Amino acid sequence: MCIFCKIAAGEIPSTKVYEDEYCFAFKDINPQAPVHVLLIPKEHIESVNSINEENANVVCEVMKAIPKVASLIPELKDGYRVISNSGKNAGQTVFHLHFHILGGKEMNEHIV
Ligand code: 5GP
Ligand code: ZN
Repeated sequence: MCIFCKIAAGEIPSTKVYEDEYCFAFKDINPQAPVHVLLIPKEHIESVNSINEENANVVCEVMKAIPKVASLIPELKDGYRVISNSGKNAGQTVFHLHFHILGGKEMNEHIV
């Protein structure tokens, strides 16, 4: 099992923010913003590049969970950024699909 599968299964401790049938969200261990949450599917999917017809339903559930997670965190009420690194050149280090939800400050440095 990969590290994020173990976190979703509760085998590795994490600070849980949100959970439902399909998703698990927890605080990033090395936060890059005042709020830095990782949202993952419970099912192991490697990255955005592995999204396909078979897992699209789960991915859709993860997308739908983003505003739910945001609504639980008052610091995100004025907005937040969602990032998913896919593959080596993007700097992906954990190969279990995850969405970084970042906020709690105005982020002026735009990559895109
Ligand atoms: P990536 O670089 O793959 O886009 O993001 C992986 C993220 O997972 C990093 O921001 C890193 O800090 C976080 N991370 C890695 N291992 C753990 C862990 O064991 N617990 C938590 N909470 N976050 C982790
Ligand atoms: Zn996994």
